[in-house]
Amino acid sequence: MACPVCACDRFYVKGQEDEYDMQEFDLRYGEVFIAAEETENGKIEIQDETEVFCDNCSWHGKLKELRKP
Ligand SMILES: [Zn+2]
Repeated sequence: MACPVCACDRFYVKGQEDEYDMQEFDLRYGEVFIAAEETENGKIEIQDETEVFCDNCSWHGKLKELRKP
């Protein structure tokens, strides 16, 4: 699992109420991995339908799109 455009495996999600409330995560072995320090104030749930943004380029889409083979 990686960005289909640039192959980066680091992404972020935006808060539903405040789009500047962002939370970064990595994709490791096909799973969402959130660094411990980000989990502490992390309130954003990342699910298959969650819109995720590539940290490296302008790609964004639903998490489930990254799960496609
Ligand atoms: Zn990308």
